Amino acid sequence: MDLAFEIKNFLKAKIRTGPRFQRALRRFTESAHLEGDALRDWQLQHLQRTIANAYQNVPFYKRLLDKEGIRPSDIRTLADMKRIPLTEKAHIRADPAGFINPRSRGFKFSVQTSGSTGTPLELKRDTPSIIAENAFLWRYWQQHGKRPGSRRATIRAGMVSGLDSDRLWVYNRHQNELLLSAFHLNDACLSKMVDKLQEFKAFDLYANPSTAYVLADYLARSGRALHFDAVFTSSEQLFDYQAELITTQMKTRIWDWYGQAERVSAIALCPHGHYHIQEDYSLTELEPIGDGQYEVIGTSFFNHLQPFIRYHTGDRVELQDEPCSCGSSWRPIRKISGRAASYIVAPDGRKISLVSHIPRGVPYLIEAQFVQDSPDDLRIRVVCEDQFSEREGAMLIARAKERISPDMNYRIEKLPMIPRTSSGKFMPIIPLGQQANQPQVNAEATV
Ligand SMILES: [Zn+2]
Repeated sequence: MDLAFEIKNFLKAKIRTGPRFQRALRRFTESAHLEGDALRDWQLQHLQRTIANAYQNVPFYKRLLDKEGIRPSDIRTLADMKRIPLTEKAHIRADPAGFINPRSRGFKFSVQTSGSTGTPLELKRDTPSIIAENAFLWRYWQQHGKRPGSRRATIRAGMVSGLDSDRLWVYNRHQNELLLSAFHLNDACLSKMVDKLQEFKAFDLYANPSTAYVLADYLARSGRALHFDAVFTSSEQLFDYQAELITTQMKTRIWDWYGQAERVSAIALCPHGHYHIQEDYSLTELEPIGDGQYEVIGTSFFNHLQPFIRYHTGDRVELQDEPCSCGSSWRPIRKISGRAASYIVAPDGRKISLVSHIPRGVPYLIEAQFVQDSPDDLRIRVVCEDQFSEREGAMLIARAKERISPDMNYRIEKLPMIPRTSSGKFMPIIPLGQQANQPQVNAEATV
């Protein structure tokens, strides 16, 4: 395993720091300032390349464009894109091979989505896509003070060990990175991780918001201290209460990045603390759905192995009306909401997707996850301190009754930790019928 780890990380570092990466980083550092006609030209040029490639090489898009009577040369303005129907996840599930360009050369990389909305999708990327993604991330990290070679700590799943292992961290010398396991977030393991992090003194921390929050909560409870110059979060919705505790406990600033495995849209926090659509990363379209909310539709610019055109992400954002004080003209976003597909269905048919406010203020509670076992039964899995008693349990249930439905049966299940998905994500809701797809708890995970 160690040899495989070394080889994988050596290759990763090579792709991620080589001359092609350096060129891409220089190019995107310049494109970060594009606006007006120059930005539209950039977007149109990348779009036309994506569409021409998809039409020539990707069976699904060849069929789709032919059926709609569209030739790639018909897409002359950004507005022409509206003629192309949306691509849904269901299309990919129905015909995965139809989305792959068989003529793509070079290394190919596969990744599985977490399956939060059903069967996981297998997605494929070519080397230019890997390089572009890494260059966009580096541009963003540098905006927030990071320099090449600085020490980083990363808490993620799947890089250190599986659920069955008791290994808590591993050092990746190729990127001067301490990788810590997101599968072992109980107090005994967290104590050892904090020892290690204090000794390692990383410049920055990379984690999902919920993971960084669990660490911050442990610091608050144990009275221990950790400092990072920056905490970079991604992969889940970042809630205000998480950002507050992480910022205070780690004496840091938090920078959140929104993207998805399909790589059709990116939104990042600027140094003035507002989100902006990364307009040179992809074409991001916002479809209004009422109440000031928009759904994110994206078209890839850089992956020619599995390009997506007008891909319906299912993610929602709220636009910010006022321009940002940083001076960027890129569309400012007030809020990025969770995916609408994950929800509890109340007995009266209402769908409830926002549950993060329910556990707030309940003493001794660290994390909560809502599992709908049947139309009438809701299980609340909690990670809590020893003092969490029946009284706090009753308080949590009362809050859930008020905010979800008084007509459901509630049950509390205490766990040492809430299992993450295979890609390390925390799921606030496990919808009806999805329990089988979820990872099992490893109650035995110890130091
Ligand atoms: Zn800004």
